[in-house]
Amino acid sequence: MTYGKVHMQIAGALFMIDEIRRKMREIPGMDILLEKEWALPWRKELGRETLKRIFNEELARIRRRILEGEDVKTSPEALRPVLEELLRARVRRRLRPVLNATGVVVHTNLGRAPLAEEALRAVRETASGYSNLEYDLEEGARGRRGSHVEDSLCVLTGAEAALVLNNNAGAVLFCLSALARGTEVVVSRGELVEIGGSFRIPDIMELSGAELVETGTTNRTHLKDYEKAITERTSMLLKVHPSNFRVEGFAAAPERRDLAALARARGLVFMEDTGSGLLAEGRDLGLDGEISVRACLEEGADIVTFSGDKMLGGPQIGAVAGRKALIDRLRGFPMLRALRVDKMTLAAFDATLRLYMEGNYDGIPVLAMLRRTQESMKAQAARLAAKLRKAAPADSNLNPNLNANANLNLNPNAASASASIKIAVVPVEDAVGGGSRPALPLPGWGVAVTGHPLGGAGRLQALLRARELPVLCGARDDALVFHVRTLRREDENEIVLAFNEFALAFGELGRT
Ligand SMILES: *Cc1c(COP(=O)(O)O)cnc(C)c1O
Repeated sequence: MTYGKVHMQIAGALFMIDEIRRKMREIPGMDILLEKEWALPWRKELGRETLKRIFNEELARIRRRILEGEDVKTSPEALRPVLEELLRARVRRRLRPVLNATGVVVHTNLGRAPLAEEALRAVRETASGYSNLEYDLEEGARGRRGSHVEDSLCVLTGAEAALVLNNNAGAVLFCLSALARGTEVVVSRGELVEIGGSFRIPDIMELSGAELVETGTTNRTHLKDYEKAITERTSMLLKVHPSNFRVEGFAAAPERRDLAALARARGLVFMEDTGSGLLAEGRDLGLDGEISVRACLEEGADIVTFSGDKMLGGPQIGAVAGRKALIDRLRGFPMLRALRVDKMTLAAFDATLRLYMEGNYDGIPVLAMLRRTQESMKAQAARLAAKLRKAAPADSNLNPNLNANANLNLNPNAASASASIKIAVVPVEDAVGGGSRPALPLPGWGVAVTGHPLGGAGRLQALLRARELPVLCGARDDALVFHVRTLRREDENEIVLAFNEFALAFGELGRT
């Protein structure tokens, strides 16, 4: 290599280093970015510190790219789109309302049961000031948290006593710990269930300190299996609602009454985890085959545990109802303090139980949605379909005041598609959800959209999720399907708005 070549290489490298230094110096300072006009509304929305963190992360990424020799534009205006997208993503992650057009009534990922108006009002009234949460107004002395709702639960279920805790998983763990720690608990192999990820009966059992004794087989367990599994160390027979699956075909389990008689004869506790707490009779809700808490107790369960926010339709709570002697033992167990219920929850639960006492099932959104008639859903689907037809892209009367969603990443090929949009009222399969009545049909009505020029069902679902007020809906054979069972009347207009946004976006696409 000649001296000249080496010299040129060194000069080249030095030039690169200078370039990198220059580019690094050009990166705008945090103060400059934070003071930009466009950053001000974001500062108001997310706070200065959050903006700093998000900007810092992005600036660090940019420095790395520059070091790797990339030519990155770093003026504040060049950075703005990326930074604003990061800020938007941050806002989207916040806890906020969504519209549920999936037809799944107790949707675990969407917050399970929406609360009744009365429950919301009770939360506001009770929590905005002081309350008699743990104060006995008659005695003028300390009272017991939750005593109100416990009385109501007794009336509604026929139980001698009741107790409320933070949630049902906690209630099961608590009961096993308090009543069966260090002893054996017999469970059918057909009921060793996993509910939504982290709640698994064998794990909960181990955590509680009770010893799981499996009996029977996956599909069939008989009374004699329970009899054989009982030893002098057994303290409990546990029955678990299989909630989110169904065994069909050659399957059997003993009658609850027979299990109860066996438990009584051997001096054991018979506990049942029913999962979804049905306080009304299933037939009153048009749901045959689901057993109410009252029926479980009448058929001999000593204690029953259930959730407040599944089919019951209230806030997240874990309820235990049953024999007074057992509930008294539970009350003395110190873990109770770690699972106690918050005052807002108690207020909402109390108000929900009052609606049950009045027999006002339609005042409880979950029950109202489960009880909807085919006619009412079909009429709603027809109304929504008519509104959507008006908002379809072919229509020229678009509302000019609507802003196209800034997040629409439009596929330019979509515009050339000669797709013709079809909007149809269709029968759909809804679901109770929340691990209730799996695989049992819950027929409903919906609106199916096909041939939208913006794309297929997957793409439209993504656009609907990216909205300020996200809309979640189903899809079937590349048709977007809005299930109306879980839609309130006022939600319809939001879906129309979404379609207007689509139409506007499509219109702009057509012009470019
Ligand atoms: C849902 C469910 C649970 C857990 O209840 P959470 O309300 O989620 O705490 C426990 N057991 C059964 C059978 C269930 O269905």
